[in-house]
Amino acid sequence: MAATLFLAQKEFTAAQGFEVTDEIAVAVAAQACLPVLRLGLDAYSGFVGIVIHPDEVVARREVMDEDGVVHHYDETLTGEAMEGGPVMLSWHDVEAAGESAEWGYNVVIHEFAHVLDMADGVPDGVPLLPDRAARDAWRRVIEAEYAAFCECVDAGDDTLLDPYGAEGVDEFFAVASEVFFVAPEEFRLEHPELYALLASYYRQDPAA
Ligand SMILES: [Zn+2]
Repeated sequence: MAATLFLAQKEFTAAQGFEVTDEIAVAVAAQACLPVLRLGLDAYSGFVGIVIHPDEVVARREVMDEDGVVHHYDETLTGEAMEGGPVMLSWHDVEAAGESAEWGYNVVIHEFAHVLDMADGVPDGVPLLPDRAARDAWRRVIEAEYAAFCECVDAGDDTLLDPYGAEGVDEFFAVASEVFFVAPEEFRLEHPELYALLASYYRQDPAA
């Protein structure tokens, strides 16, 4: 079973005095395996570590503006994926997956979609694809969908996908992957082309 292999291959650590029980590791593994049922666990071979926090994490960020002035701000994270790992997750948010599916949200699928996106080295909304023609075809669809989505978000429209997806095409791919797995029928109705694109990549048709 994929989840058992996943547990054997990955290394869980807890942060902030938390304890990763078997139940917690199994819940993460079960959700993380969903996107790669057909792709295989090798799609996750680029990292080993998974760090579980009890709740959201406040990360201190800094940005430099055009005048070279550095600004500090806090960002609240429910999860984070970095190239080469580890993947960080807030257990509070993983545990709420059942309820949050109602509004198209799943933090585990979101972060592992980022892992798949970064498999070719760049977080650009384009996962590892067989050749350049496939990458070009992918970009045509996702960039058109992303541009239309950003317009809806800017206009303040209600969107099926989390408006956070307007932050960048990499986030758009991650939020689209969440809805693809947790609300596939609605997703196929609203975004037939994007649905077909993700179905061809994940080799799954969850709305069927
Ligand atoms: Zn993200």
